[in-house]
Amino acid sequence: MHMAQWGLKDELLKDANIWLCHNCNDCSKNCPRGAAPADVLATLRKAVIRENAFPPILGGLGDSKPLNILIALLIPVILLTVVFLTGGHFGIPEGDIVYSKLFPLIKIDILFTTTFVLAAIFFAISIMNFWKNINTEPEKLRASDKKLIPALIETLIEFATHKKFSKCGESKNRYLGHMLVVIGFVLLAIVTNWSLITQDILDWKSPFVLDDHAMEIFGSFATAKIYFTLFKLTANVGAISLLLGIGLLILNRLKERSYTSLTSSFDWTLLGIIFTVCVTGILSEFTRVANIPNIAYPIYFVHLVTVFYVIAYLPYSKLAHMVYRLTAITYAKMANLD
Ligand code: SF4
Repeated sequence: MHMAQWGLKDELLKDANIWLCHNCNDCSKNCPRGAAPADVLATLRKAVIRENAFPPILGGLGDSKPLNILIALLIPVILLTVVFLTGGHFGIPEGDIVYSKLFPLIKIDILFTTTFVLAAIFFAISIMNFWKNINTEPEKLRASDKKLIPALIETLIEFATHKKFSKCGESKNRYLGHMLVVIGFVLLAIVTNWSLITQDILDWKSPFVLDDHAMEIFGSFATAKIYFTLFKLTANVGAISLLLGIGLLILNRLKERSYTSLTSSFDWTLLGIIFTVCVTGILSEFTRVANIPNIAYPIYFVHLVTVFYVIAYLPYSKLAHMVYRLTAITYAKMANLD
């Protein structure tokens, strides 16, 4: 806080310590002068993400400025419209609802896999920039007793158990919300890759429909049914966990409105997008099962747009915090700051 008061912005943006705060807001709630230290730190972390973003031109796309959100959403709208226009259907297709009729699976997989790979490369470069910036004393780090891998494992265990987060006084309920979001993301990532491997690599054309092709793959109706149930269960538990987690985080933020800060629009943007991903994902399933094509296909389109947003702008949105914090805490352990 003193460095912020003295205007030492450049030094603060290279300081790993600002990532040791996990934004529980206890200090802001209890500050007798209303100084909101948690907001100062959150603003600095947001600036760090922008500062280290690669390529710099994309750095703004994960933030909360209306124009940036509009551009960030317009990109997948255009790309998915191209997929739709080249799919061979120019209206709602007849017959059973099969989303790949409007959005051919292979094109969707190419689009999303390419986006994911590019986002991962850009994220890795951004994190390397960040590491170079916070590692102000490389000799000290080289001489440290704690090496990278043990420090990283220790940090990952802390993250997985939310050990430090659970020590929060005022905002304990955010712990449960965060855990549910993490579980939801992990389960949905498993399902996405499961589907990608079986459909695109193993060429199981209809593994989720109990037809002759499924019998051929699994050998019996019972095995096919178990496979089908396991897949759907994982997907639905993941979606419900994510929805509950996001719901809890939104409720928590609404409760905190009395001291909500300038930085919260950054959080709200991501909460809104992830909430839309969940709701449209669940509604896509319900409207497909209920056979309401006029609603199902447009909802699925919105679902794809928001999923694209989460993946493509991962290095620049609030979600990037997870990786920046993981890096900074690992560094702090190696440099004996933690
Ligand atoms: S009390 Fe919470 S928000 Fe404030 S600095 Fe500590 S961890 Fe960050």
